[in-house]
Amino acid sequence: MFLKFSDDTKQHAPSYYAATANWQTDYPELEEAIEADVAIVGGGFSGVATAVELSERGYKVVLLESNRIGWGASGRNGGQIIGGYGQNPGAFRSTIGSEGVDIVEGMGVECVDIIRQRIEKYNINCDLKWGYCEVGLKKRHLKAYQQWAEADPAMHLLDRDKIKEYVNSELYLGGYYREDWGHIQPLNLCIGEAKVAQSLGAKIFENSKVTNVTYGESPVVTTEKGSVKAGHVILCGNAYMDKLVPYLDARVLPATSCIIGTEPLSNEQLQQTMARDVAVCDSRTALDYYRLSADKRLLFGGLSNYSGLEPANAKAVMRAKMAKVFPSLKNIKIDYSWSGRMGISVRRMPQIGRIKNSNVLYASGYSGHGVAPTHMTGRLLAEAVDGDTHRFDIMNKMFHLPWPGGKLLRRPAMAAGMMFYKIRDAL
Ligand SMILES: Cc1cc2nc3c(=O)[nH]c(=O)nc-3n(C[C@H](O)[C@H](O)[C@H](O)COP(=O)(O)OP(=O)(O)OC[C@H]3O[C@@H](n4cnc5c(N)ncnc54)[C@H](O)[C@@H]3O)c2cc1C
Repeated sequence: MFLKFSDDTKQHAPSYYAATANWQTDYPELEEAIEADVAIVGGGFSGVATAVELSERGYKVVLLESNRIGWGASGRNGGQIIGGYGQNPGAFRSTIGSEGVDIVEGMGVECVDIIRQRIEKYNINCDLKWGYCEVGLKKRHLKAYQQWAEADPAMHLLDRDKIKEYVNSELYLGGYYREDWGHIQPLNLCIGEAKVAQSLGAKIFENSKVTNVTYGESPVVTTEKGSVKAGHVILCGNAYMDKLVPYLDARVLPATSCIIGTEPLSNEQLQQTMARDVAVCDSRTALDYYRLSADKRLLFGGLSNYSGLEPANAKAVMRAKMAKVFPSLKNIKIDYSWSGRMGISVRRMPQIGRIKNSNVLYASGYSGHGVAPTHMTGRLLAEAVDGDTHRFDIMNKMFHLPWPGGKLLRRPAMAAGMMFYKIRDAL
């Protein structure tokens, strides 16, 4: 498989989302030395949600984005609003205690509520739909659903016949449905939230890449033409931040995932495929995820690549993956194909913390599951800046480990790890 670099333009990826954005953001470039209570680096969900929460609390916020608001993973993802975190918080019990586990589990619910309430409160137009299915290809997936459902009344188990009323594919042995998770047009949510932050007083700058961070009591971030001196700096560049902060560079592995968007499906095609307008994930580590757009295209994602590169033939590979699930769409016209980079952490839990003892905080490493959790991050970081570090400290305690093998070996090590999961997925 040939690989190519992506992301080399400052404009949005050629996604369905960019094509249906409510407007094109056009914030100015930072061209002077200014001061703020908080400087945020990165205009994805983490940075924008933090800007909203801080602005609502009355802080003077400056948000700096290298490219465009929502240019990174937040404006390119599957749009699936899934509660919880990528990892079971119980795995951290020895570090954060039982109270910590309960708090993290609670945040896994709160993160979805934040999205729901923000869209309602500020009337953000982003095609919000409720309804989510997880689908199983193996008996062990169904066994896991049964165990989870015993503790979670929101999960409705579906057998092989019933699942077809939602996802009409022969591939799945069963699954579950829940109506408290769903999907959105993520770029429109992100730019909508940025507009909210701005309306509350936040200053937003695009085309303003931070090239240096000076630590100290009042940290300073520098761009090519300006700088911001602030009481706190918050780093939200995630998988796109590169070497700006070596501590984070060592702890966030950028992985690529790809999505295709078909032409709009006819009513007949909808009945043959997505009988219900729900977000869908399968239960493999290297999973397929898909859903309908507002105009009834199938947006089908998957193909995680841990080299950080995009396969040159991504569109064809994704078409083949989609046809495995829905053979009737084998020859359908594909109107969009794009990819994005997600930040993977060693323990597959978001890494939210503080650089040494400084006023520089960070959030990254959602490991492919960040639409809802980033919104919780915004609240946690705002609480921490506001002096309530209780929930922030729990996340900070979860040992944010560097990827083993350093710069040279971490990608091959991760690729080998994924090969293990792919083989296990296939068994
Ligand atoms: C293809 C794909 C599909 C996904 N699907 C889903 C899904 O369906 N559901 C789900 O829950 N999660 C999904 N995810 C994961 C989710 O999108 C991410 O976890 C989330 O968007 C991360 O948000 P973020 O703000 O932390 O990072 P990003 O959205 O990547 O934002 C980081 C921003 O920081 C900017 N930046 C970086 N460095 C600097 C700098 N030095 N100066 C200024 N700005 C800088 C970048 O330009 C970028 O805009 C998916 C991810 C991808 C890539």
